[in-house]
Amino acid sequence: MSISPVWAPTTQNLVWADAHSHLQDPRLAPHLPNILDRARAAGVQLLHVAATREADWPAVAALADQHPGLVISSFGLHPWFIQDRSARWLQNLRDRLAARPAGIGEIGLDARVGDGLDVDRAAVFRAQLELSYELARPASLHCRDAWGAMLEILLALPPHPAGILIHAYSGPPEALPALAQKNVHISFGGTLTRPKNVRARDNAARAPAGHFLLESDAPDLPPTLPAGVAPHLTGADGKPLSEPGNIPWIGHHLAEIRGTSAGDIAAQTTATARRLFHNMLT
Ligand SMILES: [Zn+2]
Repeated sequence: MSISPVWAPTTQNLVWADAHSHLQDPRLAPHLPNILDRARAAGVQLLHVAATREADWPAVAALADQHPGLVISSFGLHPWFIQDRSARWLQNLRDRLAARPAGIGEIGLDARVGDGLDVDRAAVFRAQLELSYELARPASLHCRDAWGAMLEILLALPPHPAGILIHAYSGPPEALPALAQKNVHISFGGTLTRPKNVRARDNAARAPAGHFLLESDAPDLPPTLPAGVAPHLTGADGKPLSEPGNIPWIGHHLAEIRGTSAGDIAAQTTATARRLFHNMLT
């Protein structure tokens, strides 16, 4: 199968969903109108924006308010930023969730931070995960070098009432069927476009139907673009930034890996995103 460049799918009338992004990131702020134009032109009709710390919650809420029907939002504390949390963070999170039909994210475990706060990090994650069960809100998870602990937690819990998304899943493929039974979904981003990322491609091939999605993780984890194609966005260091308009390009890779058409992948992943996030649409 030949892989069409990211710009071609507009001619195919495919509809895509970006299941995980951080459009509130200050690196993207000056470019947001163009980013959203390119996302729409690429057929992206659902865009999930996940917060990372209390300080970015207002910007995430503003994005959802400004783009109803397109942007859906999640609020939470990312494992990299727990040291920034206020004493009232959990009540603040409850207040946010009472005010709007949002999810909980990005939350999770990361054993590579190296700040000596792993015990706190696990407690903060656990509190947010339990809140997502209590309130029946979708939870968006990050996990790095902590798959043993993460799987132990998730597989001991009942199926999630609203659904869990593990973004940029790099855990063991053998766990995928058991995770699906717990209403856990996994999403794939720019790393799928890197032929050397065997783990991501293996998971993408084996993800159970109805339990996988596509994500930009904008502005991080940009895809490898076709030779000769320049990215629309670069950071201060000159390196490319990811954006939701890349979703069809990532989706074409997922289609190739799973031996199906881009249209089939667009239909499947968009339907899964709509099902997972249906209560969050405004
Ligand atoms: Zn993320």
